[in-house]
Amino acid sequence: MSKKYKLVNACPQCGCSAVSHLSPEEIKKRFGEVPNVELECGECQAKYQKKMEEVCPEWDKECKMRQ
Ligand SMILES: [Zn+2]
Repeated sequence: MSKKYKLVNACPQCGCSAVSHLSPEEIKKRFGEVPNVELECGECQAKYQKKMEEVCPEWDKECKMRQ
């Protein structure tokens, strides 16, 4: 079983935050290998962009190490 990464999404509009745990496969499938990720708030449905290093510093680091 592959390692799970903790992603923290904090909505800039309503301030709520959501935590999800995703495997590397799920992260790649959902976001691709891009520095900016698109997120949607579960509370107010606002769409916003964040840097991967803010959402999941651990993944960002390992992602760079693999290049
Ligand atoms: Zn929100």
